[in-house]
Amino acid sequence: MSEWICVVCSRVFDHDALENAVQITSDHGRGRSRTQTYRFVTDGSFHHLKKVKPKQPPHLPASESKDAELLQEVIETLAALPTPPVPEPELKPEQLLQVTPEIEEDKPLTAMEIAWNRRK
Ligand SMILES: [Zn+2]
Repeated sequence: MSEWICVVCSRVFDHDALENAVQITSDHGRGRSRTQTYRFVTDGSFHHLKKVKPKQPPHLPASESKDAELLQEVIETLAALPTPPVPEPELKPEQLLQVTPEIEEDKPLTAMEIAWNRRK
């Protein structure tokens, strides 16, 4: 809903109020002036109206805080997710037991080693 303010008396009129007013000046009448003169039939008064721009909240701070909220929400959502179990490398005991003795036992002992072992 657009609003209009009188540049003379600062009275604000909404769109419905203008339904009861007669526009005196034309849109294209006075060069670049955006002020329109209206005569209000309800009380016969004249007002010089210009359109009031819709108020907007401060742009940057609102946007930043919204982004921060969104980021925090994402972090919390990720934190709430169950952590997938990390598969541990499987060491089969049989393999360890098989491999290790085979290397030592299959290696033929040298004469020196046999002699060394017998010393004990
Ligand atoms: Zn006025």
